[in-house]
Amino acid sequence: MDTYLRADSEHLSSADKELEKILRPLEFYDFSGQDNIVENLRIFVKAANMREEALDHVLLHGPPGLGKTTLANIIANELNVGFKISSGPVLDKPGDLAGLLTSLDKNDVLFIDEIHRLNPVVEEYLYSAMEDYRIDILIDKGPAARSVQIPLEPFTLIGATTRSGLLTSPLRARFGINCHLNYYTADVLKKIIIRAAGILKVPINADAADEISRRSRGTPRIANALLRRVRDFAQVIGDGLIDLKIARHSLEALNIDKYGLDEMDNKILLTIVEKFAGGPVGLKTIATAVGDDEGTIEEVYEPFLIMEGFIKRTPRGREATEKAYRHLNKINPGTQQTLF
Ligand code: ADP
Repeated sequence: MDTYLRADSEHLSSADKELEKILRPLEFYDFSGQDNIVENLRIFVKAANMREEALDHVLLHGPPGLGKTTLANIIANELNVGFKISSGPVLDKPGDLAGLLTSLDKNDVLFIDEIHRLNPVVEEYLYSAMEDYRIDILIDKGPAARSVQIPLEPFTLIGATTRSGLLTSPLRARFGINCHLNYYTADVLKKIIIRAAGILKVPINADAADEISRRSRGTPRIANALLRRVRDFAQVIGDGLIDLKIARHSLEALNIDKYGLDEMDNKILLTIVEKFAGGPVGLKTIATAVGDDEGTIEEVYEPFLIMEGFIKRTPRGREATEKAYRHLNKINPGTQQTLF
């Protein structure tokens, strides 16, 4: 049996959710990686603070577990303003949005997670709110119907999405700051793991942190979850210290993939290798074969598989690399050598 850790927060246990809160950095200083984004945001936040104005609206996009919620929190914190949180599917009716917007104080941050899942009617109301800080609400029906304009305090909307491809262009155009978060390198994840271990007061050796970081699928959320599991092993079968031996033993016992790949990653690789002889094969065909949509594969799974060198994007489609064959324990017919 294989154990896969999921990067999306919907599948977290309540203990893991609690852990996320404790480990969430509150300042740019504690946020590792995504250097370019952090550098720019620091400047924009500083400028907004100097002018005592609301920061421009920010769109954060990228795969789950890479720090979008964390960054939104940090921005509000560094702006020293209030922070309200909601999500696309929750904001079902225009009234819900109006209630939320009118509750904001001057320059507050409103965070809307999964903003690509906003109801289109609610989204329309958001346009004037973002642009002119006002909402037009229609009161009554029929001949008595009239539109009432409600002024809002200046605010910053931070939208987060794993699927930026699904955003409508009018919504996308209203964000002045647009940041794409990438998967983390093992080096940065190692730093994140060591910081988290410090907060949890778990002693950990550098080589053990290194081992965990390489199996975390480039994702801080997974790194933290793995740290928690390994900590249990260290406490029960060791003396509490996470050393390389304990880390390896726990990751083996948990059947964590050597490269941190998850179930869908492996399914995609197997599909390319087994059904399409290693490719090249089009994204649409892969999506149909694995039973997920094209956009999710392109925006969530593929970037990690490409970054780690498991697949290549070619003009004729996706191709599995030698590393993918080795990982799946398969022989690449293209490079098979004749011995005699
Ligand atoms: P997202 O909103 O993109 O799904 P989150 O912001 O909820 O991801 O991050 C998941 C967890 O990973 C958080 O608890 C946070 O502690 C941790 N995390 C994410 N990014 C970083 C980072 N750059 N540095 C340290 N911890 C991070």
